[in-house]
Amino acid sequence: MPDTENETVPGGTDVPALRFENVVKKFGENVVLNDLNFDVRKGERVTLIGPSGSGKTTILRLVMTLEELTGGFIYVDGKPLTHELRDGRRVERRPKDVAKMTTMIGMVFQQFNLFPNMSVLENITEAPVHVLGKSKEEADRRARELLDLVGLGDKADAHPTRLSGGQQQRVAIARALAMDPEILLLDEVTSALDPELVGEVLTVLRDIARNTDITMLIVTHEMQFAAEVSNRVLMFDGGRIIEEASPDVMFSDPKQQRTKDFLQAVL
Ligand code: ADP
Repeated sequence: MPDTENETVPGGTDVPALRFENVVKKFGENVVLNDLNFDVRKGERVTLIGPSGSGKTTILRLVMTLEELTGGFIYVDGKPLTHELRDGRRVERRPKDVAKMTTMIGMVFQQFNLFPNMSVLENITEAPVHVLGKSKEEADRRARELLDLVGLGDKADAHPTRLSGGQQQRVAIARALAMDPEILLLDEVTSALDPELVGEVLTVLRDIARNTDITMLIVTHEMQFAAEVSNRVLMFDGGRIIEEASPDVMFSDPKQQRTKDFLQAVL
């Protein structure tokens, strides 16, 4: 019997949370991702490392559908995200169907991207109420729980612009979690912070990694953090994965000269 549940992902029942299949992304003539293939298993934490401009952020933005795929396919939980094969042809999926799938994906950005005209609480409850259709009371209750979780229980009514960068980023993390995502994308979430504020954000993320089974795809230059939370590290260069290993191996005994040079420069 064909396994209809999994027919979009050949190869079995262990459906990955994310699958990149022959993914190509061009900006004009600039080929940023060149026939990229990799899976992220459910519950896995995968960190992407590599030099600036190697395409790491673009991968996250493609998953969030903030960029359009030039070629290939991305599958989320075994289902095609923006494009699918129909009668042997690559076709776009309906925006409504795509939007539905992206509700299970959360993203935290380098620049926080909070709504400046809303309170902290409103930032967190906006999508659960307007996208998921939760009642205001339920969304408020959950938002306050999440604010406690990120150590900002007393900031519900504050204005984001009155908070430090580290606090704003913790609100952004709470906002992403408020959608109960199955997949969390972290895009250099500490890069815009003053050094003394990095720790409080990483502490919150470590706790989330420890206490949830959310699948995470992480772009970071914080190698210590990557070593602590990741199951697997992928080294990118020129839009391709040039090396893949557990953090233990990647950070202590990388094989490729390019990886050695990169790690020597950032560690
Ligand atoms: P990384 O995250 O590894 O630093 P990015 O994914 O941000 O790399 O960028 C990869 C390449 O794509 C770079 O050459 C960058 O200039 C280019 N790029 C990214 N976004 C855009 C865009 N919106 N328009 C044109 N080029 C872009």
